[in-house]
Amino acid sequence: MMRSQNGIPDGIPVQKPYDFVPWGVQEPHRTPPTRDGHSVLADGNGGRAGRVDFTIITKEVVHVGNGRYGFVTVNKDEWLVGMAVGARRWVIVQGNSGGEAREVSLPVIPGSTLKGVIRSVAEALSGSCAVALGPNTRPSAGRFRPCRRVDQLCPCCRLFGTTAYAGHFQVQDVTAADRSAMGVYRMPLLWKPGGGRGLPERYRAVGTPGLVGRKFYFHRRHAKGGSDPRLVIKPNVQLSGRILFDNVELAELGLLVAAMGCAPGRSFPIKLGAGKPVGMGSVECRIDRVVLFGGARGADASVSPFAGRLGGERHQVFEGEALGELLQRAVQEAMEQNPPLVIPSQLERLRQIWSPEGLEKEASAGPY
Ligand SMILES: [Zn+2]
Repeated sequence: MMRSQNGIPDGIPVQKPYDFVPWGVQEPHRTPPTRDGHSVLADGNGGRAGRVDFTIITKEVVHVGNGRYGFVTVNKDEWLVGMAVGARRWVIVQGNSGGEAREVSLPVIPGSTLKGVIRSVAEALSGSCAVALGPNTRPSAGRFRPCRRVDQLCPCCRLFGTTAYAGHFQVQDVTAADRSAMGVYRMPLLWKPGGGRGLPERYRAVGTPGLVGRKFYFHRRHAKGGSDPRLVIKPNVQLSGRILFDNVELAELGLLVAAMGCAPGRSFPIKLGAGKPVGMGSVECRIDRVVLFGGARGADASVSPFAGRLGGERHQVFEGEALGELLQRAVQEAMEQNPPLVIPSQLERLRQIWSPEGLEKEASAGPY
């Protein structure tokens, strides 16, 4: 077998399973936070509090390493998976070594993980700063390096929070009702792109030292023939999720909706968790319901951006057709703001990269 300079075996060349959403022409639009990030209910200056109920449908195996699971190989072909349910209590979730499995409600996708994924999409859509860059990529992000001043925050730092600022979205843990949602998948070993030696050439904008944009892995069918066992959520499992929001304007709700891949007529599956290069982590979000809580001091329907056909009454529940209209209007408002909170060209680019057609192609198990 040939070896490349960085020690990675040269397999059959495969197409690299990712692409970039360019940074975009728009600088992060940094403003002072005008609304209190900690208020529980809207206080009449436009924002509303409420919640988004949604279903996650796994399109592929999903593994989120949340520290609550332990995978133990007992013997050569014997293994079991335990999950921590208290400080020192574990239950066996899966196993083939005779251990007794117990039915439990499994926190399978921590809210913090899901929030991070939605945020990274929202950053690309809104031209916000990129908070999740590693030490390799951070210096090359130019003006998209993370916000530093609490009085100069980009839309995502305001909405999702940053150091010393709490943000307006709270994503709850996603649980599975029972262990039948879980399975074991043997994942191929992964190499770091470029063998972990600095920024691969492909990441760089032509003729500049800077990063070309934000990286997203394509959807793929999971690769077979791996050896690294992982506890995964099986494909075609439905899980319930909930996001609470406070003091959020209609356009900001639109950014959240688009970042969940739920913009009406512009939807796409998103990817989360481990093993993205080998086809893991594809999920579809479906918003089932949006509930707007009433304003604490009575929202003024004439000034609220939620007013008009959608009304200014208290505790509105949007489902079915009314939900579709609300989501449509929220995303539209986000695209029409100046500067836009959802940049239409960025949304289109991400839709191309995350086309569900990718799920029909099998991922390569080899190095890339
Ligand atoms: Zn920021």
